[in-house]
Amino acid sequence: MRRIDVHCHFFNRKELSALMLLNIIHMIRNAEISLSGTNTNQNVNEARQISKSVKSSISFFMTSLKSPKQIYKKINSYEKGYIFAPLMLDAYWLTQSPKTDEPHVRQDDIMGVVKNELDNISDSLQNIAKRKTISTEKRHLSIETKRITDSFKRLLSKKTFEDVPKLNSSVDNFPLQETEITALQEAYPNDIMPFYAVDPRRASNFIKKADGTYDISPITKKLKINGGHFTGFKLYTPCGYSPTHPMLMKMYEYCEQNNVPIIAHVSGSGATTLANKLYIEGHVYKDQELHEVNRVWEFDNKNLFARDRILEHSERLNHPMLWEHILNTYPKLKIDLAHFGHLPHSMEWTNYIWSMMKKKDKDGNYAYPNLYTDLACIPDRDTLFTFHNRYFAIEKELQCRFLYGSDFYMNLVYLNDMSDYCENFVNVFTAEEFDLISITNPRKFLNLPEEDK
Ligand SMILES: [Zn+2]
Repeated sequence: MRRIDVHCHFFNRKELSALMLLNIIHMIRNAEISLSGTNTNQNVNEARQISKSVKSSISFFMTSLKSPKQIYKKINSYEKGYIFAPLMLDAYWLTQSPKTDEPHVRQDDIMGVVKNELDNISDSLQNIAKRKTISTEKRHLSIETKRITDSFKRLLSKKTFEDVPKLNSSVDNFPLQETEITALQEAYPNDIMPFYAVDPRRASNFIKKADGTYDISPITKKLKINGGHFTGFKLYTPCGYSPTHPMLMKMYEYCEQNNVPIIAHVSGSGATTLANKLYIEGHVYKDQELHEVNRVWEFDNKNLFARDRILEHSERLNHPMLWEHILNTYPKLKIDLAHFGHLPHSMEWTNYIWSMMKKKDKDGNYAYPNLYTDLACIPDRDTLFTFHNRYFAIEKELQCRFLYGSDFYMNLVYLNDMSDYCENFVNVFTAEEFDLISITNPRKFLNLPEEDK
């Protein structure tokens, strides 16, 4: 039986490269912040970790410049014989803020902003290295991080990158992304099961009826069960929408009735909206509760490189409590809350998802029997061990709801090599357990027959 990677990405497009670029700058800035702080072990450890990530994320940036087919070939060389579920991303909306007075946020000169930021970081790191009171390791790390910063700056000034990092909201690459992924699916019909990214702000995804309700046939037509190419839907709410948007509620209803799988990004990292203000339809999470908003929402972290910006966006638009609200309306919905809710410094979301998975109704049955999670992009072995030992291993009955995923090539941000990622799973899971999460469970999730023909 073939193994399945239920969470990977073959898109590459240009505006995404710019976002990746911003993420890398964000990381370098965080390393600099840790280094500029006092000489605590935590600061030094953090800086060491981040400067390692920066190094690896450059290979990730390079991969993003390849074609979807080349990316597919690359992952296939590590995960030989696998079936892949590549998830689309509607990156266009990361830069959009419709219905606010900021229609074209930050689409201007991203390269200028980035180069300026890199200059500032480089200067600051040089000053840190010169401090008399600094520890030897910190000095070493500051010099090393400055070296990476400077070489990154040189890389970006090369001609090949000239037109890549442009954030231009007038360029919409999503239709091309769809064309490319459907062509790939047609070329490899038994190997590729793609997920269509749904953003409720994209007008072509629905027809709004005169009574204000939504006809979602434009997206359901894309499903394989209706003669299209896609196995299910992908949601990435930190792009700037609420998961309880009325159009999406309509989609959940359809998916629950027709057993269509959904994969939702649920973690505290990754690219998030570049807008400071958004028009939100649906709920947001703040201060331990949900708030229904149908108006412009303003975020607290306005600086593009503020440390908590990504976390704030993720929490408002993506907290597990929002998904619980949806599951209370559609309890049989087949949904994978991805990354097991991984947060950089806390287990809060993981524990929240875990309690949702364990929850039983008054008859003693699981309240959300089709709630899954995946272990995509858990690149460090310690976290994978924790997820395995404290959760997966202790509830036999819930082991059927864990899925294997790589998050290739997003995971390259944190890795030196994809083979390290595969090796972690071999070391943490027994052969039998790995069969379960990479064969048995994903077959059920993707509605594949239990046996190969
Ligand atoms: Zn992903």
